[in-house]
Amino acid sequence: MTPLRDVVVVGGGLAGITAALACADAGLDVTLLESRRHLGGLTHSFRRGEIEVDNGQHVFLRCCTAYQELLRRLGVSDKAFLQPKLAIPVRSPRLAEPVWLRRNGLPAPLHLADSVLKYRPLRLADRLRFAGAALALRGVDPAAPSSDAQSFATWLATHGQSADAVTKLWDLVGIATLNAPATDASLGLAATVFQLGLLTDAAAADIGWSKVPLRKLHGDPAHFALTSAGAKVATATKVTGLRREGNEWLVSAGETSVTARAVVLAVPPAAAERLLPPGSVDLPEGWAAGLGSSPIVNVHVVFDRRVMDQPFVAAVDSPVQWVFDRTEPSGVDSGQYVAVSMSAADELIDAPVHAIRERLLPALREVLGTGAGVRDFFVTRERHATFRPAPGCAALRPGPVTGADGLVLAGAWTATGWPATMEGAVRSGVAAAGALLEQHAEKKGGDPRMTTLTSIRGEQSADEARRPRRVPEEQV
Ligand SMILES: Cc1cc2nc3c(=O)[nH]c(=O)nc-3n(C[C@H](O)[C@H](O)[C@H](O)COP(=O)(O)OP(=O)(O)OC[C@H]3O[C@@H](n4cnc5c(N)ncnc54)[C@H](O)[C@@H]3O)c2cc1C
Repeated sequence: MTPLRDVVVVGGGLAGITAALACADAGLDVTLLESRRHLGGLTHSFRRGEIEVDNGQHVFLRCCTAYQELLRRLGVSDKAFLQPKLAIPVRSPRLAEPVWLRRNGLPAPLHLADSVLKYRPLRLADRLRFAGAALALRGVDPAAPSSDAQSFATWLATHGQSADAVTKLWDLVGIATLNAPATDASLGLAATVFQLGLLTDAAAADIGWSKVPLRKLHGDPAHFALTSAGAKVATATKVTGLRREGNEWLVSAGETSVTARAVVLAVPPAAAERLLPPGSVDLPEGWAAGLGSSPIVNVHVVFDRRVMDQPFVAAVDSPVQWVFDRTEPSGVDSGQYVAVSMSAADELIDAPVHAIRERLLPALREVLGTGAGVRDFFVTRERHATFRPAPGCAALRPGPVTGADGLVLAGAWTATGWPATMEGAVRSGVAAAGALLEQHAEKKGGDPRMTTLTSIRGEQSADEARRPRRVPEEQV
């Protein structure tokens, strides 16, 4: 029989990593169990011949404070780049030169006013009407049930936004951050994204990305940080059962098992629903399928010469969405390697590579204005990249506290108020660890040892971190 642990964390994505680190830093005896051979979850990379490939391009914004705190805790802040000032080159096959969405020196929301006024992919009337809707969006309460119930597209239409304005401006940002077009996104989550990113603080949407493969930014440094903090990490260990026995939790992984006083369940929704003891969350049966998932496909192209000068471009009037230069992080030493990130990729997720190539390679060449030859072309697919941020999704996102003593939830899909992002995942890990440490302190009658937690918390409030969804005791 293994010794009794303080905490077992199930799932080694960003949420589990954060929760495990916070508990280990607070002095608890922590074991993290991860089914894959590496930590990092949905943010990982692999080798393809000579190059390092990310499973999908990831970016963060300056307002992702908890995520950046995690990078600091992992000692890898220098491996990420953050734009000093938001600047997005937008390319259209109809325009010879990119148009720029840049922030000026004015406070939000005026910081983008001149860029939007000069945004040639849209007619002047649409550019002028943008401001009214942007200002109205500042007043939407993202947490109100009425915001969750309504689609963002419906709201935009009632605020004078044409179909063109939605696809060429609102969705340009919205698809990439929400992983859904406005038609399929809840107003509540869209309001969160636009308020935090574009409408409140001028610097909030400065864009950041990793200068190294994701495994070297998250998974490997997290493994090192966790073991250095005294935690045990078991990869290739799939948890198959979770049972309360007296005052302890029995966590089974096939033939082996671990016992712990508390458990952080930081796995995707379907796995969480399978593992959660009956009645521990007040959600209807089949809630994980109800929440659903939305795919992201990345199309990787190694060209025989340079095809773009900027680190990334966004595209309009094209099936192409966002294109990132991957040459340096991947180790490609000649030509140029670009990744086309296709969010809300329901149409591509099951398409064969040749069909994706026929559809996207000519479009990509057109957007970049290049006839360069292709040295390598391949596709990475993440079917369950994020939960579906559809109207009504808030009701299917539980908070960290369950009705079962000592069992808390984490994951970008839990009730963080954010869409499924790295920031949401880290915040959920902070919230889960915060709830556990509080319970632990209550039992011991001492302080909740929150010092290190506060450092990863970013600007999250203590109330937000707890946000309990208690289940009536008779259900447990
Ligand atoms: C292609 C792609 C692009 C993205 N782009 C961005 C972006 O640009 N910006 C951004 O902020 N976010 C982006 N995201 C979203 C972001 O990656 C996720 O929201 C975040 O990484 C989720 O972290 P998590 O810890 O909540 O979940 P996960 O990463 O899913 O971690 C859950 C972990 O649990 C493990 N697990 C599952 N079942 C078990 C079990 N039974 N036992 C043990 N372990 C188990 C899994 O293997 C996994 O490692 C993107 C996602 C994808 C896929």
